[in-house]
Amino acid sequence: MVGPRDDFVFCALGGLGEIGMNAALYGYGPPAKREWILVDCGVSFAGDDLPGVDLILPDLKFLEGQKNRLKAIIITHAHEDHIGALMDLYPRLGQPPVYATPFAAGLFDIRRQAEPGAKKIAVTIMRPGDVLPLDPFAVEVISVAHSIPESTALAIKTPLGTAIHTGDWKIDATPVAGWTTDDARLRALGDEGVLALICDSTNVMRDGESLSEADVAKGLSEVIGKATGRVAVTTFASNIARIRSVALAAKEHGREIVSVGRAMDRAIQVAAECGYLEGVPEFRSPETYGYLPRDKVVVLLTGSQGEPRAALARVAEDQHPDVTLSSGDTVIFSSRTIPGNEKAVGRIINGLVGQGVNVVTDRTALVHVSGHPRRGELQKMYEWVRPRFLVPAHGEPLHLDEHRKFALKNGIPQVVMATNGDVVRLSPGAPDIVDEVQHGRLFKDGEVLVPLSDPAISERRKLSFAGIVSVAIALDPKGELVGDPAFAVSGIPQSDRTGRSFEDMIEAAVFEVLDGLPNSKRRDPDLVEQALERAVRSTVNSAWGKKPLCHVQVVII
Ligand SMILES: [Zn+2]
Ligand SMILES: [Zn+2]
Repeated sequence: MVGPRDDFVFCALGGLGEIGMNAALYGYGPPAKREWILVDCGVSFAGDDLPGVDLILPDLKFLEGQKNRLKAIIITHAHEDHIGALMDLYPRLGQPPVYATPFAAGLFDIRRQAEPGAKKIAVTIMRPGDVLPLDPFAVEVISVAHSIPESTALAIKTPLGTAIHTGDWKIDATPVAGWTTDDARLRALGDEGVLALICDSTNVMRDGESLSEADVAKGLSEVIGKATGRVAVTTFASNIARIRSVALAAKEHGREIVSVGRAMDRAIQVAAECGYLEGVPEFRSPETYGYLPRDKVVVLLTGSQGEPRAALARVAEDQHPDVTLSSGDTVIFSSRTIPGNEKAVGRIINGLVGQGVNVVTDRTALVHVSGHPRRGELQKMYEWVRPRFLVPAHGEPLHLDEHRKFALKNGIPQVVMATNGDVVRLSPGAPDIVDEVQHGRLFKDGEVLVPLSDPAISERRKLSFAGIVSVAIALDPKGELVGDPAFAVSGIPQSDRTGRSFEDMIEAAVFEVLDGLPNSKRRDPDLVEQALERAVRSTVNSAWGKKPLCHVQVVII
């Protein structure tokens, strides 16, 4: 039964306008009492502009206020941009059921066990063909190929029509490990009628169709076959098809396979439990590496994005306890560098080349393919599903806009452009943005989640840019200075262009302010603090061109 005021809406709280931090809501019911399902709960990785912050999480405040009507959280696949925020945000969401595939659930649980004090989250296993009974929703799970096993698209069915949420997908008839994209099921859903396609935009700028993981397996085998020294391969630990291909290529060329890095070991354990490593030789531990002849080893390493603490960076700096490389060895980057990581990856590649290591990337050999659909694959999805309209998702503004243009040229009658927080009415009537809800970002700062409004992050940015001056003075009740003022500076050069010491300048500025203040005013510590802070910052600024943070402590004794 459709109530007179019921509607079916989509609202992303992350993932529109950025690649990362996916969190999409589907709502059904009268606007004041909609019931919700949350699809994915992912993170983004923080850049250099957020010193000390590792991860960015979506701010789910809006959903926290509606948690009584949150029916379930469904995880489409185990990439961090889809599941990475679940552990931290789940306790705030009223503990609804969580659905994930066996591989995603296994990887999530093994990561959770590695977090000290993390509470167990019960995950209900879902498989392709399942229809999750989440009245008023019925959510059908559809297999898709991607760069991790067991990726899913979701058909979200309601009394007011069906939306298809593609998640991350590509077409790959020979995915090496995991599922193919179930085009028959998508076609059948298209025959039944689909309102909205919420679709991956990551590779909309690229023509043609993606190559298969099986093509990469051949490419890897060729490079490993030609190598004369040791071979190291770095890839995302969750890319089990790639790990499988590397291990089989090693076996084919008479080499042992060694795995290095905690994330790699965890992914291998879960993949083995899920049956994805059958026929693959046993992975040897890092300690065996040193005993194997140079032409009899392939080592799999974490750290393809230049992460400074991961195995590859430590090997490149010759800091790894077990694994070393030398002139004549080969390192294969079976990966693509995520925008923002180019400098870190470039530093590692240059370090390796400097040691005489032969570096192979996807620019010089077929050692990587993307897990996202190119234009030719998007066209096929449109033909299968034949939606009334499309909402571009999973992309930066440029990708989303390019997807809009491409879809309109390729038979999609209407495209709805939404950004995070927009409530898009999918049905009844024409699609429209009908509301906006609170959305934003949280920063994982050490073990604490802080909102953007917390001054800690902006203060740290200022500290990294212009340092800090601390001044402490003691005054007696009459306002007379007791003892000498104390100073400390951090992050400020020792002297200016003319050789004058900044500490001397600061000291002079402090005395000038104190001498200029009548005793009556000196009795007000707040006033003294403000006057000193102003004077110190402007003195340093006039000599340096930058204003540091300044802390002044006035003690009355
Ligand atoms: Zn993904
Ligand atoms: Zn993704």
